[in-house]
Amino acid sequence: MEPLKAISFLLFALSLTDAAKWTYERGAATGPANWGNVSAECDERRQSPINFVHEDTISVSWKPFKFKGYNTSTGSIPRINNIGHTAMMDLDGFHSVSEGGLPTEYQALQVHFHWGKTDAVGSEHTIDGKQFPLEMHIVHYAYIRFNGSDIDAVMSGDPDALAVLGVLFEIGEEDNEELAEIIKGLTEITAEGQAYDFQESVSLIDLLPEDKSSFYRYNGSLTTPDCHQIVTWTVFTETVPISQSQMEQFRALTEGSGSEVHSIGDAFRPVQPVYDRDVFYNGAVLTTIPSLVLVMGLIMIHLIP
Ligand SMILES: [Zn+2]
Repeated sequence: MEPLKAISFLLFALSLTDAAKWTYERGAATGPANWGNVSAECDERRQSPINFVHEDTISVSWKPFKFKGYNTSTGSIPRINNIGHTAMMDLDGFHSVSEGGLPTEYQALQVHFHWGKTDAVGSEHTIDGKQFPLEMHIVHYAYIRFNGSDIDAVMSGDPDALAVLGVLFEIGEEDNEELAEIIKGLTEITAEGQAYDFQESVSLIDLLPEDKSSFYRYNGSLTTPDCHQIVTWTVFTETVPISQSQMEQFRALTEGSGSEVHSIGDAFRPVQPVYDRDVFYNGAVLTTIPSLVLVMGLIMIHLIP
């Protein structure tokens, strides 16, 4: 098995074997508030997701991201799987991201989603307290550093081992055609363990927002146990639209088997404390309400005779 395949397989296997140990069910003994009992790292101080408080962020202006294989020129997205806690898409071939303030080039391993039972919840990251109905994560690893390494090496504490790109979705009036094949796949994988081979090509670039230069950046963790603190996070501020009926297909997914089958439900971890971490904002300076008030005030002063 080539290294990428080995790591990709192991990430997949990890998510399967962990399935019995934890749940998204609020209040459960193995629910999000008690994940520290599943893995002590879940209670540490660089956890994800977080709420981005825009006025507390540090403004930066990094070089634009460089994407390779995101338009299927060198890689493809062959299928989508119901792995129990989420829907995960496999990647074949080479897809990578670099620049954008990232410390190295990262190769994409898999893509998965987080959602909730209603539109009011679902995303893991929130912006000034606002939560979104869906969040997509493209998980990458620092493939040059870990060339030939096994999964234990990647997971063992290098804070830059993984880079995840997070995309937030908002409800739109119409179906988002870029999501059509993924949504069709969801209707075929409502039970845990099912997979659907895409009939039409799906490319990563079509799943990202138009504006790829406006995003938040911080150092955090995986958002499921074992919550390893090895992720450089990017969360784009521009959202991607999804229709109400497309959203419902995510909510139709179930997990468990036999008499234990139940809806995946609220498939997101609640936000975690930021503590003393720096959170960066790359992009245009947003016009804030206080500065608008100031400008209005100055105009008024000049108008008063
Ligand atoms: Zn995720």
